[in-house]
This record gives sequence, structure tokens and C-alpha cells, in this order.
Amino acid sequence: MNVFFVGAGPGDPELLTIKGARLLAEAGLVLYAGSLVNREILTCANPAARLVDSAGLDLEQQVTLMTAAVQEGIKVVRLHTGDPSLYGAIQEQIDELSARGVKSTIVPGVSSYAAAVAAVGRELTLPGVSQTVIITRLAGRTAVPEKESLRALAAHGASMCIFLSVGLIDRVARELLASYPTETPVAVVEKASWPEQRLVRGSLGELVPLVREAGITRQAIILVGEFLASEDYEQSRLYATEFEHGFRERTVKV
Ligand code: SAH
Repeated sequence: MNVFFVGAGPGDPELLTIKGARLLAEAGLVLYAGSLVNREILTCANPAARLVDSAGLDLEQQVTLMTAAVQEGIKVVRLHTGDPSLYGAIQEQIDELSARGVKSTIVPGVSSYAAAVAAVGRELTLPGVSQTVIITRLAGRTAVPEKESLRALAAHGASMCIFLSVGLIDRVARELLASYPTETPVAVVEKASWPEQRLVRGSLGELVPLVREAGITRQAIILVGEFLASEDYEQSRLYATEFEHGFRERTVKV
């Protein structure tokens, strides 16, 4: 049997996928990241299931626990916040499980960057503004390759979603200001999609005082780029009247 790496979504239990909810209901062991996963999501789990917070366990202990369960024929869900593919440290688990003959299946989830962008009510990829999204973080306990420094990435002027960095807001602002103009719009969304979600918006020049005054120190996404405010985008060709494609004939008037 497989271990299912399930994306729990950003917090709102309704943003858990139907597949994720089904697997949770079927699992006999649920290993979850207690610091970030909304406990309410665990109510989807089978009442008889064993629920284990992964916070207290090292990689070896987690893999041993999951392997033993799989060998007993118990369905295992490893619940990660947002989408497991981003900053989830799942690769090391998948590889360790594989070394012990256990296969993994990943069930994607709604990442917190998507919930943060939804909270500001904008599109990340405005034609004529930016068609590129940079998802990144500042180096913390985990290093970031030098060629991916925030300073280097800022040079692209793309739409940016910065994870895991609000606690280092001075450095974030300093590195971004190396390339983005001071008036570049920014937004910081704390606990996106949770009932206690908070949102601050302003310009890059104001980023540090905005975050300080709000007292945001963790569980936040920093959004940067003209996509946040630009009214000066081009309309997409997708819905243009004169643009014909396979699914929408020119003759159809809406
Ligand atoms: N895999 C997750 C990210 C895990 S790393 C995802 O796809 O969202 C943890 C970081 O994600 C936090 O430091 C914070 O930057 C961000 N994060 C997680 N949940 C969040 C939420 N509800 N609102 C804002 N940021 C969140």
C-alpha cells in the first residue's frame, strides 16, 4: 500500500480537496504538521484513526511509523499544509519510504499563495504587466542558492509570492528595493483563508512599518508586484471579441 501525501490547503477546511477528504476518512494513521495544519481539517479523519503530530518526530521516526503502518495494511495519510510540493520537505520522506519499499502518492492541495492572492482579489498574471510568478523565500535554516537571492530575482520585476520570510521583513525589503521601485505595490496576508486572516497593503517603501505595526511575524505570504494594483494591463486575447478559437465561435455573442 502507498503513503498518501495530502495537501491540506491553506486553512479553510472547505479548501481541502474532495480526494483529500476521502483519503482522510479512510486512513488508519494520519501524520500531520501540527504547527500549520488547521485542526478542524482533522475532523474529516476516521474517529478510530491514530492522529500523530509530526512536530515531535524526526525524519527517521516519521518514516519508521509510516512504514510499520503500511506493512500492517493500514492506510496512511501524511497531511501537509497548502500544497505538498512547496516547502513541504516531502522529497526526503518519499525517498526514505522508497528505500524501504514503500511507494508514495501525492494529492495536491490549494497552496497558501493562492489563498493569499484570492484575499487581495487580483490576478497574478496580468497581460502586459507580468506573465511570470516567482515563488521564493529568504534563506533561513534552509539555504537558498545564491543565484536565486531575492535581490537577483527582484531584477525580473515579476509577480512574486514570498513564503517563510515575514519574520525577516527588513531583509526582504532591502533586497527587493535593489530592483523594484519604492512605489511597487505589496501586500502581506497572514493566515490566508482562516477566520482570523489579516491583510495589509501598501508600497514596497512602507513594507517594514506596515508589517511591524500589524505585528505579523509568521504564517504570512508577502506578495509583490504591479499585478496588485495595475489598471494598465492589456485585456487578454482569451475573451477578445475578434478572437476565434475552437471552443467559442466568433458568431456567438454573449
Ligand atoms: N506547502 C505550503 C507551504 C509550507 S511552508 C503551501 O503550499 O502553502 C510554510 C509557510 O507557508 C509559512 O511560513 C507561510 O509563509 C506560508 N503559509 C502557510 N499557510 C499560510 C496561510 N494560511 N496564510 C499565509 N501564509 C501561509
